[in-house]
Amino acid sequence: MSSTFSIDRGTVSTAVAGVTGYLTTDLAALGRNYQKLTEIVAPGRVAAVVKADAYGLGAERVAKTLFERGCRHFFVAQFGEAQKLRPTLTSNAQVFVLNGLQPGAEIECAMAGIIPVLNSLEQYQRWSEAAAELRRTLPAVLQFDSGMSRLGVPPQERTELAEALDKRGNVEVLFIMSHLASADEVDATQNAEQLAEMRRIAYEFAGFDISFANSAGVFLGDAYHGVLARPGIALYGGASTAGVLNPMEPVVRLDVAVVQTRKVPAGTKVGYGGAHVTTRETRLATIGAGYADGLPRALSERGAVYYKGTRLPIVGRVSMDSITVDASALPDGALTLGSLVEVIGPHQTLEDIARDADTISYEILTSLGRRYVRQYR
Ligand SMILES: *Cc1c(COP(=O)(O)O)cnc(C)c1O
Repeated sequence: MSSTFSIDRGTVSTAVAGVTGYLTTDLAALGRNYQKLTEIVAPGRVAAVVKADAYGLGAERVAKTLFERGCRHFFVAQFGEAQKLRPTLTSNAQVFVLNGLQPGAEIECAMAGIIPVLNSLEQYQRWSEAAAELRRTLPAVLQFDSGMSRLGVPPQERTELAEALDKRGNVEVLFIMSHLASADEVDATQNAEQLAEMRRIAYEFAGFDISFANSAGVFLGDAYHGVLARPGIALYGGASTAGVLNPMEPVVRLDVAVVQTRKVPAGTKVGYGGAHVTTRETRLATIGAGYADGLPRALSERGAVYYKGTRLPIVGRVSMDSITVDASALPDGALTLGSLVEVIGPHQTLEDIARDADTISYEILTSLGRRYVRQYR
């Protein structure tokens, strides 16, 4: 699957002047991933979770691309993100705020045409008061806590909320939703427990459409789909489910430029703290990205980068702005100033680098720094 992914930069394999890294987003692959998820959840529909600037890839570009593919539902986490995204989309697209609203933001939210996800009775009441003040009916989504204890109406508020919904009638509930805590583990009993709780909620709030599955939930089967799936990571090519072949196409590629090369004898210390000492004559290359660019310090002495398919292990500690790699596996002179090495691409997936850094692909993706040149194809 990953071998079909290549960035055509013509004959250019080195960075242009002043650039030390390229973060490339394949918008066509993003579109195909959306299409694939759409086929799996049909007749349900697929929203796009574009919080945290579409996991670091650029919410506006991502949302526009997916809108062209038929996506009409876009979820961000924070009101500020929605304020930025809303004006870039036409009015037939809906923008939802997963974290709900802070008190006082209701009128501004309503005026901007942004739809809050209401996570508590209090948030519902404030939204209803805003509707009364504006003499309008305001749209909203209700999120319920089905067992994750993070966001959503808690069980003890459900009865009062149901009564308030009946009585006031000035909040138009577009659909109800909940979020899975363990969907990435197919065998986790928590999945079935949350599904059972979601069914109780659907019984108490009868007649509303349901949105339930995140990326991993899409692969748990029809029962988890509801009418609107909310994938994030799968759109961006990440593996949502542990231990199975990732069915999504890679979307992200990261290439970083060599900023210096050298040959050192055995017994030479490399990097901060002299944490690495060479055991033989070693060709070293220093590349121009470090932990300030989202390459975790946990990759020290653990991870690798690739050059034309050859693995170049990281030696010594990851610095703020650079990483030194052992390039001895390459012929003398293969790497020169400006050569680009692959950090994420056909030879190293997001999951590979996340595993080496003891984290998850989500954290790698959302941390990739602002200093790379971002390009789209
Ligand atoms: C982040 C988030 C998603 C998307 O999760 P992925 O695992 O990236 O698919 C969906 N729903 C909610 C409530 C979220 O917070």
